[in-house]
This record gives sequence, C-alpha cells and structure tokens, in this order.
Amino acid sequence: MHELSIVTSMISIVRENMVRHGAGRLNKIKIRVGEMSAVEPEALRFCFEACAGGTDMEGVILDIEEVPVMGQCLNCKKEFQLTLYLDSRCPVCGGEAGGYVSGSELDIVSMEVE
Ligand SMILES: [Zn+2]
Repeated sequence: MHELSIVTSMISIVRENMVRHGAGRLNKIKIRVGEMSAVEPEALRFCFEACAGGTDMEGVILDIEEVPVMGQCLNCKKEFQLTLYLDSRCPVCGGEAGGYVSGSELDIVSMEVE
C-alpha cells in the first residue's frame, strides 16, 4: 500500500527530528500533499492512526494540506492550475502546459511539540 510506506517513512523522519531537537511530546504534524502524488488524504490519516496507535505517536494530529497541481504554460510562462487527466490549456493564451510546477510533493511542513 502506497500510503503505508509514506506514513512509515514520515514517522521515522519525524522521530529523527524530535531526537535532534530534543523535543518532548508531539501534538501535531502538518504535512503538504500534492494532488499529483496520488495520495488519498483519508487513507493517509487512517494509516497514520494505525501506525501511531500504541506508540508515543498515539493521539498526534495529522494536519493534511492538499496542494493543487500547477503547470506552467510553454508559451507565455503563466502558471495555472491543472486538472488531472484532462487536457489543461493556459487560460491566458491557450498554450500547452509544459511540466508541473507543484503538486507532486509530500512534505512535512511543521511539527508542533510541547
Ligand atoms: Zn500561456
């Protein structure tokens, strides 16, 4: 399962950070998930709760921010939001989108500790 491996690696990154900063109890993890990463926020949350249960991560809130997919016009360089699986054209000049600017990321934005 895609989400499970993401959650597992996310938890280990969070743990490393907590050790490095000598953080105490974790309250909240804020992450950013791009629409392109094909991650279901609900599945991610479910996996996190399953992994965190019974550990020191139990009860930690997973705050998921979804990031739309942005592309950049090949012609006029305007950045605009792409619709997945549809042929998205530049709203300014009708040009083709040349690659993704954002939307494939999965980042840990912040951690809230006591
Ligand atoms: Zn354009």
